[in-house]
Amino acid sequence: MSCKPDEQILSEPVPIGNVTAPNRFFAAPHATGTGSLRDRSTLAIKREKARGGWGTVCTEHAEIHASSDMTPSHNIRFWGTDDQRLATEIATAIHDEGSLAALELTHSGANASNFGSYEPALSPSGGMITPTGGVAPPPLQTRMMDRDDIREFRQWHRDAVGRAIACGFDVAYVYAIPLLSLPGQFLSASFNRRSDEYGGPLQNRLRLLRELIEDAGDAAAGRCAIAVRIAVADFLDPKTGNAELHELFDDIGTLPDLWDVIVHGMSRDAGGARSRQDPGATDVLREIKRLTAKPVVSGNTISDPGTMAQMVRDDVVDLFSAARPSIADPFLPKKMMNGRADQVTHCIKCNICIAGVLQRAPSKCTQNPTFGEQYRRSWRADTVPPRRTRKRVAVVGAGPAGLECAATLGERGYDTVLFERTGALGGRAARESALPGLESWSHIVSDRVKRIARLTNVSIRTGVDVTDAQLQDEGIDKVFLATGASWDRKGGGRCNVVPSRLGTGIRLYTPDDIMAGRLPAGRVLIHDEDQFYMGSTIAGLLAGLGCTVSLSTPASVAAPYTVFTLEQRLIQQRLLRSGVRILPNLQLLSADADHAELACTFTGDRQKEGFESLVLVGGRVPDDRLWHALKTSPANRLDPMRIGDALAPRLLSHAVFSGHKAAREFELDASRDPLDDHAVEQGIGIRQRLLPVA
Ligand code: ADP
Ligand code: SF4
Repeated sequence: MSCKPDEQILSEPVPIGNVTAPNRFFAAPHATGTGSLRDRSTLAIKREKARGGWGTVCTEHAEIHASSDMTPSHNIRFWGTDDQRLATEIATAIHDEGSLAALELTHSGANASNFGSYEPALSPSGGMITPTGGVAPPPLQTRMMDRDDIREFRQWHRDAVGRAIACGFDVAYVYAIPLLSLPGQFLSASFNRRSDEYGGPLQNRLRLLRELIEDAGDAAAGRCAIAVRIAVADFLDPKTGNAELHELFDDIGTLPDLWDVIVHGMSRDAGGARSRQDPGATDVLREIKRLTAKPVVSGNTISDPGTMAQMVRDDVVDLFSAARPSIADPFLPKKMMNGRADQVTHCIKCNICIAGVLQRAPSKCTQNPTFGEQYRRSWRADTVPPRRTRKRVAVVGAGPAGLECAATLGERGYDTVLFERTGALGGRAARESALPGLESWSHIVSDRVKRIARLTNVSIRTGVDVTDAQLQDEGIDKVFLATGASWDRKGGGRCNVVPSRLGTGIRLYTPDDIMAGRLPAGRVLIHDEDQFYMGSTIAGLLAGLGCTVSLSTPASVAAPYTVFTLEQRLIQQRLLRSGVRILPNLQLLSADADHAELACTFTGDRQKEGFESLVLVGGRVPDDRLWHALKTSPANRLDPMRIGDALAPRLLSHAVFSGHKAAREFELDASRDPLDDHAVEQGIGIRQRLLPVA
């Protein structure tokens, strides 16, 4: 199948300096939580993207010097010639698939912890170091760079470009994001307080970036293209007609071979599901295209192929950059270029991938359970191992775990029945996607329902409350139990290992009630032990419905885990603006009909909080009743296996992963140590014939 004629433009080659991208799909630089430490995984991730059709594949940050050491983050270390092995392997693997390889050379300046190198961090004007990422910033000062330091830094960057060429890269980056990079810190009017020729007016603040691009061009001498990554939000001002943006592009617009533009800051560019897209981004990109003849690539531009093709014709961008969409579906370009856009797995903007990185763990993806497992489990997003036998299998429960399990078993060729008690598919993903801001969760359901619809060997039976007797009658040989979990009504949670004492007569609600449309009114106290998105989402919903809402939590801020999904500030800001009282550092001791007794988590001091209704967002209780019934019945021969929340209530990403793993490994020896990134690559995916999936 090929795409529509008016979408052919997406498959067109695009010259970038002296190299040519084979198409307009550009896998953006992004952290993976693997870097040089888990180098085989890093390599496998890039290789898969190239196989998926991304015409250009970028690396994550490649730190060019010891003074840009981002420990404990896991980037690519590119301090010197000793560090070229991984970079060379990445460039080679990408070339093997016919794509261009781009190396994101970075120096993080004042943003570098240097915990590993113990070098002082460098900055334009001195002051505190500014590392990002949800950790308490250490009390360290940076060293203000003098002219010698600037000369030395330019040499490090020039040398790094030379090493990038030696490793085989086609594109080398000058990374100039404000605040996150040293050139960007020079560029920033608020950060750069120098009074010499590198500070003051924009012309001066641009000087270092201009010199770096020229140095890189000299070092490359036509052997590789030079890209600049920049965020332009600081230069936008409608009152001046974006005068600074014009000045910037007048000055350096023609210097690099490619402009990689982030319209707003990184946290807005990688905004979570709850953040709003800025409709003005397209206009800014169109303006930039008018200011430079060089190709422009930008993110948040992946949509449907027809719209993307029109964006090229309308001179908005030349190439479409994607970080998260390339994680959720590494094969997105091939699908779009082959007329199979309806088979793309959608990124739901849950930012679990970013949470992994910020927790210094290998990144995972809610929508793509194979992401990060390309090497250590030899999983591929586009293939599954074929069935081993003709066993007939059943999956009970059509939430994220059950849907993923049934789809994957079906793709392997097993005759599969998926049972669901209710009339609707999707379990918690369907329920949660009805909450404000979580609408994109619906893709968890729809993408899997579409996969199943393409299979003739998977049948879905809704409205069936499965019992052990029924499974026997159906001639099932193996059963996977994805029966889910429900929110605890008994006052248990993170802080309350011993549940809070709950008296009688309380108008008590859990998220399950709210999602089922049973809503409280009047004065509502929400006690949030979960501390991710659910408590604050319900608080916002009820405040919007006219309730007087207080949100108590043992944490010091609302929804603290959302720091890792880059949403905490936004969530707290919205709660405060909608009149929600946030009551931090409080444990729920007990509740009676109209009030709760709470205790300070530091002092133990007690306080009473009145309410008309109480919403408990505590732990979740696995529904494993069917599993216990099967274990003790003749149906035990089915070797029932719990998956998803029925096994352990966790994140949506865990439920999908659990369903996928159970299905992919069914009847296979998957004994390889999954955490051994340095094991010889010999997993199940390599040794046997694989079946293509959509
Ligand atoms: P997970 O996140 O693990 O996928 P969910 O709670 O989202 O779990 O989904 C579990 C699904 O299982 C729900 O849709 C529920 O209706 C269904 N379910 C639970 N018990 C049974 C049963 N005995 N028979 C059929 N469906 C069931
Ligand atoms: Fe998208 Fe979520 Fe996957 Fe990240 S984890 S790529 S945000 S679906």
